Amino acid sequence: MIRAILYAVITIFALAFLRMVMALITKGMGDLFKEETASQQPPSPATAGARQSVPTAGELKACRTCGTYTLTSAAISAEEKGTKVYFCSKACREKHA
Ligand SMILES: [Zn+2]
Repeated sequence: MIRAILYAVITIFALAFLRMVMALITKGMGDLFKEETASQQPPSPATAGARQSVPTAGELKACRTCGTYTLTSAAISAEEKGTKVYFCSKACREKHA
């Protein structure tokens, strides 16, 4: 059971890493292309904004109990007084309750 969770976590991180690498590669190719067409142009704020809007595998949220940062896609979420709170593990959620 623990091994299954471990594999799931590893898979999530591997996917996140792959996504990051792909984003870097596509960005690098875009930069190369830009240099060929229009050289010596300072980076415009438009490109900086576009970089921020790249979708990520999930948001990082701090565990309410121990403070470990966990991706929302992997974290255990719970409702507390109308707001969503996140925990890194079931053990932390039970400790908090
Ligand atoms: Zn925790």
